[in-house]
Amino acid sequence: MKWLTAVLLAAVAGCSSIQQSQSTSGDRWLLTGTKVYVSPDAPPLENAWVLVSGSKIEAVGTASTARPKGIRTDSACSGGVITAGFQNSHVHFIDTVFGDAATRPAADLEQSLNRMLTSYGFTTVVDTGSLVDNTVALRQRIERGDVKGPAILTAGLPLYPPNGLPIYLRDLPPALLSQLPQPATTDEAVAIVRRNFASGANGTKLFVATPQGGGEIKRMSPDIARAAAAETHARGGLVMAHPTDPEGVAAAVTAGVDIVVHTTIDGRKGDTWSPDLIRDMRARNVSVIPTLKLWRYELAKAKVPANIQDLIVGDAEKQLKAFSDAGGQVLFGTDVGYMSEFDPTDEYVLMAHAGLTPVQILTSLTTAPAARWRAEGTRGRVQPKLAADLVVLNGDPVTDVKRFADVKCTIRAGRAVFVRMDR
Ligand SMILES: [Zn+2]
Repeated sequence: MKWLTAVLLAAVAGCSSIQQSQSTSGDRWLLTGTKVYVSPDAPPLENAWVLVSGSKIEAVGTASTARPKGIRTDSACSGGVITAGFQNSHVHFIDTVFGDAATRPAADLEQSLNRMLTSYGFTTVVDTGSLVDNTVALRQRIERGDVKGPAILTAGLPLYPPNGLPIYLRDLPPALLSQLPQPATTDEAVAIVRRNFASGANGTKLFVATPQGGGEIKRMSPDIARAAAAETHARGGLVMAHPTDPEGVAAAVTAGVDIVVHTTIDGRKGDTWSPDLIRDMRARNVSVIPTLKLWRYELAKAKVPANIQDLIVGDAEKQLKAFSDAGGQVLFGTDVGYMSEFDPTDEYVLMAHAGLTPVQILTSLTTAPAARWRAEGTRGRVQPKLAADLVVLNGDPVTDVKRFADVKCTIRAGRAVFVRMDR
C-alpha cells in the first residue's frame, strides 16, 4: 500500500509544486540535478541545470557554465538524476477507468494516468489498441491542458484475422469485443485503416497471428496484412504487429510492418529467431518491443512452474539480445493497460538480464522511439529547443537499472505531471 499512499499524497500535496511549475508560455524556471543524461550517446553532465522556458528547453549547463540569474529553481523536482522523458511504446487505454474520457472528471483521469504511466516517467505513450474515439478524446483533453498526462499516439482499433480474436481477449467486455474488426478482404482492411485515421489514429496494429487455445493459431492472410500496411504508410503512419510466434514475425516483416510489439513465447517448434529472420528484420528496418515482464505475468497466471518460466522467458531474452546485437532498434514497452501490474521495474531488470546495457535501455526509452516516430527534432534528448519532457530519477540508472523506475518527478512540455512527495 506504500506506493498507493505515495501516489495519493502526490495527488494532494503535489498541487503546490505543480502550480509552481505550471508554465504560462514564456515562464522560465530552472531544474537542477546531480547528473543530467542529455542523451544516451553523450557523457552525462555532473551537477548540471536545465533552463525550461514555456514548453521547451531553453538551455542546459553545468556548475562551470554561467547560470541565468534571477530565475526560480523548482525545489520539488531538483536534486535528482535528469534524463529526457520516457516513451512507453506499448500501452492500452482499455480499462474502464479511462471510459467516457470526454466527460469523466479530470482528477479521475489524472489519477489513472498517474498510476499507470506518469509516476513511472512516461511522457509519451503509444496505445497499440483501444476504442479510438475514446482514446482520441483523452488525448484532446490532455493537449487542451484540461488533464495532466502524457502525449498519446494511438493505433486505434486493431485488425484481427476472421473469427480470430485471441483466446486471452475473451474476458474483455462484450461491448468492446463486438467492435473488434476482423476483415475478410483487403477492401475491408483498407476501410478499417481509413476509419481509424479519420478518427485520429497515428498507426495500425495488425494481429498477424492469434492463439486460439490448444496450440491452434489463426493467421491473417498476407494480402490483407500487406494492404492494411500500405494504406497506413500512405497516410504517414506506422504499422505495428502482434506476432505470437517466429512465423508471425516473418509474416509481419513480409507485410511491411514497422514495429513488432512483442518477442515470442508461443512457438510450438521453439522460439528461436533465426539469423535469417533477424537479418530480414534489419533489412526492412523493423523495430522490436520486448515486453519480457508480460511473459512472466502470463506464465504465472497460467501457473507454469518457476523453472519452466525461466526457460521460456530465457528464449525471449535471447531473441532480444540477438536482435539488439545485430543492430536492431529496440523500443521500450510493457503492455500496461492490458497487464494490470504497472510497475516497469521487472522489465528493466529482464532487459538487463538479457544483456542490454543501461545505456541501451535508456536509448529504448528516449532517442530510439523519438527517431522511430520521426520526432527526433522535437523530443528525446535534453537539448535546447526540444520539448521540456523530462524525468527526474532518485538515483543513477547506469549503476542500477531499477532506478529507471524510481521516479521523483515527471515533466511534460514544461509542466510537472507527477511529483513524488514521500522522499
Ligand atoms: Zn498489447
